[in-house]
Amino acid sequence: MVRKRKSIFKVGYIVVLLIISVIALVWYSYVLKNELRGLVRNTLKEVSNQNILVVQKEIEGDLSALVEISERVASMGETGEEEILDILRGIEERYSFSRMGFCREDGIAHTTDGDVVDISDREYFINSMEGRNYVSDPIIDAISGEEVIVFSAPVKSGDSIIGILYATYQVESLREMLAVSSFEGEGYTYIIERDGDKVVDSTHPTSFQNMTNIFTSMKDADGRNYQVVTELQRLLGSGEPGYVIFYNKVGKYMYVTPLGINDWFLIDVVPVDFMENTSNYIIHRTYFVCGILAIVCAVIAIAILREERRKKQKMQDLLYVDELTGGNTLAKFKKEVERRLQIHYKKLAVVVMDLDDFKLVNELFGFEEGNRVLRHLSKTLQDNCMEGECVGRSMADRFLMLLCYDEEKEVKQRILKIAEEIQELRLSQTMEYILHPVFGIYYMITGDDDIEEILDCASLAHNMAKQAKSGVYKVYTNEIKEKELQKKQLSDQIEYAYQNHEFVVYYQPKYDSRTKKLAGAEALVRWRRSDGQMVSPGLFVPLAEESGFVCKLDEYVFREVCQAQKRWLDQGLEVVPISVNLSRRHLDNPEFIREYKAILDASGVPIEYIQLEITESAMFEKKDEFLQIMEELHNLGFMILMDDFGTGYSSLMMLKSIPIDVMKLDKSFVDDYDDERGEQIIRCVMRMAQDLRIAITAEGVETEEQYKFLTSIGCDTIQGYYFARPMPEEEYEMRMNNKI
Ligand code: C2E
Ligand code: MG
Ligand code: MG
Repeated sequence: MVRKRKSIFKVGYIVVLLIISVIALVWYSYVLKNELRGLVRNTLKEVSNQNILVVQKEIEGDLSALVEISERVASMGETGEEEILDILRGIEERYSFSRMGFCREDGIAHTTDGDVVDISDREYFINSMEGRNYVSDPIIDAISGEEVIVFSAPVKSGDSIIGILYATYQVESLREMLAVSSFEGEGYTYIIERDGDKVVDSTHPTSFQNMTNIFTSMKDADGRNYQVVTELQRLLGSGEPGYVIFYNKVGKYMYVTPLGINDWFLIDVVPVDFMENTSNYIIHRTYFVCGILAIVCAVIAIAILREERRKKQKMQDLLYVDELTGGNTLAKFKKEVERRLQIHYKKLAVVVMDLDDFKLVNELFGFEEGNRVLRHLSKTLQDNCMEGECVGRSMADRFLMLLCYDEEKEVKQRILKIAEEIQELRLSQTMEYILHPVFGIYYMITGDDDIEEILDCASLAHNMAKQAKSGVYKVYTNEIKEKELQKKQLSDQIEYAYQNHEFVVYYQPKYDSRTKKLAGAEALVRWRRSDGQMVSPGLFVPLAEESGFVCKLDEYVFREVCQAQKRWLDQGLEVVPISVNLSRRHLDNPEFIREYKAILDASGVPIEYIQLEITESAMFEKKDEFLQIMEELHNLGFMILMDDFGTGYSSLMMLKSIPIDVMKLDKSFVDDYDDERGEQIIRCVMRMAQDLRIAITAEGVETEEQYKFLTSIGCDTIQGYYFARPMPEEEYEMRMNNKI
């Protein structure tokens, strides 16, 4: 589900990225196109300006030459026509005039090619007679029949105009001038009047042929030009330079600039395609480069993704494959269970399993052998897996199984079979050693979907199975959960209870087996709630051990006992040594020795009145620290009592090395005294202790028979209900006084 959401997110991310890229590219093309269009217009403008300069230079040059000549003619005074014409003929060749002429006020002109014509009705005559230098629109030369432009200038004598001088200039010359190739021969130029009439057209093959009016030609060429013509007319009307795009087979730019002569406009034309080819080329190049970049990016992205996937796979292998057994890790197991939960078609059970004594396997046979055991466990569990089931290892010897079943008893049978197969492994040729697998079973119920909760339930059952110390498995029940909850509540309450002075010290007297006199006592902590209800140490001491709070409790008991002993000594009572329990958790912090010594010194009680009890199983966890602490305590002068002797693992081995003064025979031995083997064991232990000069106290003596038996075999001290139960301080004080 999460993966699906992730990939949807990824695809969405890519799509958004793609859309953004496309928008960016379109926007970029648009900007680029506009920029390039601007560039095109500028180029057109430049070409057009150059053309204008050429035309202006030509026409204005010719006109001013004419004006100069007319001034010369005027200065000649009453000179005859022939003389004037001679001068004109001499000049004519220097300019590109096709003919020149002179006429007086009567309008009868004498031309350089010998003609005499009446020009009195011509525009140029009238304008120049009115004193203006004039350039005519193109007209058809009456003599040559060619299209010409006429330049004219007045000839003045003083303030009065005595005639005019004129010259014809062939439109063809202007056309040739403008036909200079521009835009690689694609461009051409017209000169038109404001009303669209042509002044100079173009011979370019793609220009309007036989054009008389540009508007008409445009409209004839393409229907779309109607709109353009309006735009062009507006432009011409404004007298400002500008451009339009019109159509004559292809789209063309038309750049319009006022020429500054008459109402003429210079028009430069170039196909849109030609101008845009460059920009298209750039744009296409850009697309191409973008495409290449996109491909490169895609290739890099794919390579990165592949590498990531490879790394992920590697990580997953690390995360999912248990290096030691080659099986599933806890993470993989959880995933598998989650997957199966979604498709489960059968009833499912989760089983947590470990060995009761795996630490010992490592201790006795070494890590290599320990690893072999783990592989054997993994293989056995996997061999017993059916379709749809799976196995995983969470840590050390802790394995998990998912089993399918129809009936609960099937699971139990299979577990017993697995246990048997596990026990088939032989660890040593010389030593008989049997593995003890312990299982916790949780049968899933409908609605179970939280893998952590499911595993918690199976673990709870497994804890129960371990604590029970008998049987191979335990099945999770709601009662187990309730008990756990209760434990949790207790452990939460302990600290508060301590501050609330709810802990008190009870004393259980120990008696000399022969004289039956009080020989000592053991201090045992009790939790008396504010409502008077007692909480059993069997319940809260393990919890306090788990949290480490037990150290505080022990210290409290130790201080209470020191102070009580001192008080009783001061009262002159017949004080006997009192042993105080020391939790294994003290091994974590050897500093406690100095604190205990300081408490003892502060109380002023001699050290022989305080003894310390430590269970032998404590040594099993931290052997070296244990030995060192015991040495130190013993050197300080404390008597060391080995509590619960016989319940630990290396009981006999350790007796050699630990400075034990008293051995407390565990109740379980005492209980078995009437059994033949039990009796033999007790006797054996007794003998060994006596050989090592270690005194023996029997714990949990409840009956006269037990007492008699233990006395008969030389047990030194007796502790148990037979003589006395643990009791409050006042009661114990009375016992010391022999008052009860
Ligand atoms: P333990 O140190 O072995 O203490 C002896 C336990 O055996 C006491 O249980 C005592 O009441 C019980 N007992 C003595 N005689 C008999 C008998 O004849 N029959 C039966 N059935 N039981 C007998 P208690 O007081 O419930 O304490 C249980 C355990 O809690 C102790 O076992 C000890 O391991 C731990 N504990 C008690 N007080 C302290 C303490 O102050 N500090 C630490 N660290 N542990 C403590
Ligand atoms: Mg004890
Ligand atoms: Mg004990």
